[in-house]
Amino acid sequence: MTTFNRREFIQISGGALAGIAFIGCMPPKAIQPVEEKVSGLRILHAKQTTTICPYCSVSCGIIVHTVKGKVVNTEGDPDHPINEGTLCPKGMSVYQISHNNPNRLTKPLHREPYGSEWKEVSWDFALDKIARRIKETRDNTFETANKDGKTVNRTLAIASLGSAAMDNEECYLYQKMLRSLGLIYIEHQARI
Ligand code: SF4
Repeated sequence: MTTFNRREFIQISGGALAGIAFIGCMPPKAIQPVEEKVSGLRILHAKQTTTICPYCSVSCGIIVHTVKGKVVNTEGDPDHPINEGTLCPKGMSVYQISHNNPNRLTKPLHREPYGSEWKEVSWDFALDKIARRIKETRDNTFETANKDGKTVNRTLAIASLGSAAMDNEECYLYQKMLRSLGLIYIEHQARI
């Protein structure tokens, strides 16, 4: 911890007071009026909408400011009972992944086996391919019993990761589907 002796404390205090006195002596134009600063705020005429952070199950509240449908700012919602305005670094960065981000993926990408290029594909193509791969993998790897003869009805060849963006009901249905397929490697990305 930094310590000051009496002399240093008086010197520092004197400097601070001189600074305040100097600002007090500045001509009115040199000090930016509060109104002028406020008029430059990007959220001044923005529409305010509340939402929930998509990253983890803490579910912090976020305020989204939009102007003509474009997100101009996001910040913690001080009225939300869970986070009371605070956000962790992931929640703070949600603005960077909002729909304004030109790098945000909006369509599925597919890379052929041994290919080097990603190509945009339709959702139908992607979902059909995923469903076929799951079925093939499950059919080829499903175990009804382990090496000790105990019934297991599982596949160790498929894992699931996610998703923090699901609500309770979606998670329930998702678990039902995964368990019925015989998956036991089920993880959530917010724990990683
Ligand atoms: S990721 Fe951070 S900000 Fe988002 S809900 Fe979880 S704790 Fe809250």
